[in-house]
Amino acid sequence: MADPQYATLEAYDGVRFAWNVWPLSRIEANRMVIPLGLMVTPLKRTDSLTSLQYEPVRCRGCQGILNPYSQVDFASMIWLCPFCYNRNSFPPHYQGITEGQLPGELFQEAVSVEYVLQQPVRAPPSFILVLDLSQSLEALTEMKQSVKQMLQMLPEYCLVGLITFGAMVTVHELAASEIPRAYLFRGTKETTAQEVAKLLGLGLVQYKRQAGMPGPSGTPGIGRFLLPYSECDYTLESIIDDLQPDRQPSSRKQRLVRATGAAVGVGVGLMENCIPGTGGRLMVFTGGPCTTGPGAVVGLALEDSIRTHRDFEKSAGVKQFKKACQWYESLGRRMAGSGHCLDVFACSLDQVGVAEMHDAVSVTGGVVVLAETFSHEIYRKSLARLFELDENGYLQMFFNATFDVIMSKDIRVSGTTGPVTSANNKSPLASEVELGVGGTTSWRLCALSQATSLGMFFEVAASHGTVLEPGQILCLQFQTQYQHPSGQHRLRVTTVARPWAEPNAPEIASSFDQEAAAALLARQALFRCSQEDVFDVLRWIDRILIRVASKFGDFTKDNPASFRWPPSFTYLPDFLFHLRRSQFLQVFNNTPDETAFYRLTLEREGVQASMLMIQPTLTSFTFEGPPQPVLLDVASMRPDSILVLDTWFMLVVHYGKTIVEWRKAGYHLQPDQDAF
Ligand SMILES: [Zn+2]
Repeated sequence: MADPQYATLEAYDGVRFAWNVWPLSRIEANRMVIPLGLMVTPLKRTDSLTSLQYEPVRCRGCQGILNPYSQVDFASMIWLCPFCYNRNSFPPHYQGITEGQLPGELFQEAVSVEYVLQQPVRAPPSFILVLDLSQSLEALTEMKQSVKQMLQMLPEYCLVGLITFGAMVTVHELAASEIPRAYLFRGTKETTAQEVAKLLGLGLVQYKRQAGMPGPSGTPGIGRFLLPYSECDYTLESIIDDLQPDRQPSSRKQRLVRATGAAVGVGVGLMENCIPGTGGRLMVFTGGPCTTGPGAVVGLALEDSIRTHRDFEKSAGVKQFKKACQWYESLGRRMAGSGHCLDVFACSLDQVGVAEMHDAVSVTGGVVVLAETFSHEIYRKSLARLFELDENGYLQMFFNATFDVIMSKDIRVSGTTGPVTSANNKSPLASEVELGVGGTTSWRLCALSQATSLGMFFEVAASHGTVLEPGQILCLQFQTQYQHPSGQHRLRVTTVARPWAEPNAPEIASSFDQEAAAALLARQALFRCSQEDVFDVLRWIDRILIRVASKFGDFTKDNPASFRWPPSFTYLPDFLFHLRRSQFLQVFNNTPDETAFYRLTLEREGVQASMLMIQPTLTSFTFEGPPQPVLLDVASMRPDSILVLDTWFMLVVHYGKTIVEWRKAGYHLQPDQDAF
């Protein structure tokens, strides 16, 4: 594998560069084939993180935040910004600092610090449940059970809301009352935020904040449709208990009428009205495809089969697909605009339309879980994992973030890939050549975890022949401001530096981190898949490999046998080979929903997880020594070994013939066979 020093650095600051030394020349940077990029995990959990209970000190020139790479002149109390070289004076309360008494953000090891900001969050995290009633009684019962288990994991201050759907969409009022009240929406219609507000009478009822309770006040709809779980647990659970399968005439020739798209639309409108600009999840639990209204995936007649990858080759199959995609794209934009995310829990033997929903989930950072039933282990464990609490009793999900990159004028940012949308900060430091979501130096993330990773691409702005000053470093700063479930706004600031080098300096090639580069190439390939034919993406990967080989390989002309990769590139061809034939780019044997799910997962994971997904590891356990990684080859199957295949998505265990016989004989139960 690649040089372990890069993984060690990543554990410290959450950043991995494809090239750890950059050439100070635009032309040379372009010739390097693999872009100057990096993988960053903005909220990575690190042991070295410093928490600061005050507001950050910003550079007046570029908004960069004071960091260990800033030069400080203690005599005149001035600090030099490492990004724009502006000289800044310290605020009055910093006057006491000396070389021996530094504020936390200036410590050498404080590459990653987190400010707890004064401004509190307006509302706690919200969870709107959208439940599918077009299911058999058995499936619905399992779904209700799992949802109730999930609610029990929810901290009681979180806001919850409930929408159910079958042929119609129902918004339930959760305020305790004698007669439960609910509002009906047509399942065949697209509903705007204004229509939702009008029909639900939002803006009329004001929720009075009770003393001592963290919570919002004065927002329409809160107190009726969204309540802290502690105040509506009884009402909510009794409504869920009473839910029955949607009453529809049963027919062997027809699918159930299921207005998933309209229900998501109503949910988005409800959130826009009730909790604009504060974090929330719209959690859709569904047991089949949407068959009516906006976002319909397939018609009602069972003789019309649901789309496959092959149908996309024909224009007729694409029409309905595109229409549904457009609906979810528009919902995704609205959700991203107000800081909310879409989660889909699809438990069905059939496809439900995740491929159509892909964009809305992708840009908002939601999660997708695919399983066969609501009692399936994968579904139950995934749901429980999402709601795991940290050691302080807080959810480990973060909301409504903005991600900014600060850099020196020698660098331009081309774009970012991952669960982001552009925050349209049209800075001159945003490159005109876009790679991923570009044209900005600032992005929005509606929901993220400690593992959410972004792929970023940069270019060098310095012209060829720019004089390199001794010790000149390139500095980048990532500022992630987000809503923490504790009700605080926090700002994570990570500052990283790498050396510049003369064009063609040998240290550039030897600083190549092939794992980070492969993860970035995978991100680029996925981004291309959303815009062009997969066939062209495969050709693009081939061209990359050929160009990298001719630029960095060591060979004598016209003698193929003489070709050698430099040591820092040896695994790259393998990675690209596996990427080419992975389920991310090859659709054979997968449904469009599965392909969408795989791509969604890869486009937000970090370097190590991406590696595992692209090139699964096979580990052999024998009595002859410690576990060993072995080749993904039939030859690795030996009678006296146990093989474990880890593909990230699943774990496969293979027992050799002799091992099986030993196990049948019960050797593993004998106390003197502990090793077994
Ligand atoms: Zn500055």
